Amino acid sequence: MSTKNKKVMVIGGGIAGLTAAWELSRFNIDVELIEKTPFLGGYAIRYCCKATDECRQCGACTVEAMLKNVVNEPKIRVHLATDVEKINNSGRLSVDLKKSSYKPDSATEGVIRGYSKNNSPLHVIVDKEKCEENPDAVPEGAVELDTMGFSGKLDVDAVILASGFKPFDAEQKGTYGYEKFPNVVTGMDLELIIRENATVVRPSDGKTAQKIAFIQCVGSRDESLGNLWCSQVCCPYALRMAERIKHKNADAEITVFYMDIQNVGKDYAGFYEKCKTEFRFVRNIPVDVFPMENDSLSMRYMNEEDGLCINEEFDLLVLSVGIMPGPDNSNLSDLFDVVLNEDGFFAGIDKLNSTSTLKDGIFLAGTVAGPKDIAASMAHAGQAASEVIKHLGVS
Ligand SMILES: Cc1cc2nc3c(=O)[nH]c(=O)nc-3n(C[C@H](O)[C@H](O)[C@H](O)COP(=O)(O)OP(=O)(O)OC[C@H]3O[C@@H](n4cnc5c(N)ncnc54)[C@H](O)[C@@H]3O)c2cc1C
Repeated sequence: MSTKNKKVMVIGGGIAGLTAAWELSRFNIDVELIEKTPFLGGYAIRYCCKATDECRQCGACTVEAMLKNVVNEPKIRVHLATDVEKINNSGRLSVDLKKSSYKPDSATEGVIRGYSKNNSPLHVIVDKEKCEENPDAVPEGAVELDTMGFSGKLDVDAVILASGFKPFDAEQKGTYGYEKFPNVVTGMDLELIIRENATVVRPSDGKTAQKIAFIQCVGSRDESLGNLWCSQVCCPYALRMAERIKHKNADAEITVFYMDIQNVGKDYAGFYEKCKTEFRFVRNIPVDVFPMENDSLSMRYMNEEDGLCINEEFDLLVLSVGIMPGPDNSNLSDLFDVVLNEDGFFAGIDKLNSTSTLKDGIFLAGTVAGPKDIAASMAHAGQAASEVIKHLGVS
């Protein structure tokens, strides 16, 4: 069957949604790509390159490349700052869209910037009053958020849900002091710190952090929270970032507190063995963090060998936060009538086909269906696109 006039909606412009849209466009299928924020790229577009002398295959650069592909592909229509309102499933899928109610977490100058130079627009005005006070600070080409977003109905032949995940909120683990002690940061914060600075600096005073601790499994595999899943990305991202820190600053002393290190990713076993020669691994998860002079942090943990309690001081603490179900999962599940699994991620038909759902014409791509790294999200999105193509009867 021909792909002429076939149209697919992809909801979510992270790496999974971008990949699904791009793969479908290769088959000459028209794509409506819906993104609720003003920028494409999801979380992964903000990550730092974790290469040392060699590429560590963290996947960060693949997101930039895919974003560029998508914005230059005429078969893909991008709707930024747009949200799904209603769906009418009679014959073709008819989806009502509305301007999203997106609000940024912070925008000191009244303008926010996308993380990729391929974001269009690159700057978005979110507070007009602040911008009027200081018009010289408004970059050329900035677009007002109020003028963005699409409202109206679109008829499509299939929908791919690719609305992603949310990082674990580290404030829920109160004893670590996140948002209370300035030098306690999350893995997501560290991605930005490394991206913006040659060495890792402490948020409190901008000085290079010499003694750094990572605590693994923050929010994952945690019975007290009911989050029993492994997030799959925290061990690789923490060790890659630790290696990158050590590469730039050979004097840095890095300690990784862990339960067990997940062996995920290509050449991971060899990489882990190398890390063991460079960092200290302590098989114990500290519970309490105390503020010290100069905003340093003291951590109490048990010595593996003799079971005695140790108090040790660090310059910076990194909480390796994991992958949680996306904030819109429950709403999208109701709108599209697709069930969530017991953890709150979208449920595919089975383990062999985790991109199709029990609802005809609705498919899943990426972390919306459970924790994945960038490469796995892209592979999942590719599989979703081929299931859609089968569904449309295109071969
Ligand atoms: C701290 C941290 C560090 C990581 N580092 C790495 C790394 O170095 N390498 C690696 O391979 N992986 C890493 N990962 C994993 C990586 O972030 C994910 O694999 C990737 O972001 C998944 O992409 P996604 O498209 O599924 O989801 P997301 O990145 O969450 O993108 C989803 C998109 O959908 C949009 N959206 C949500 N709801 C709606 C809606 N209702 N309507 C329209 N749009 C919507 C969102 O705004 C977002 O743009 C890391 C994860 C964490 C938590």
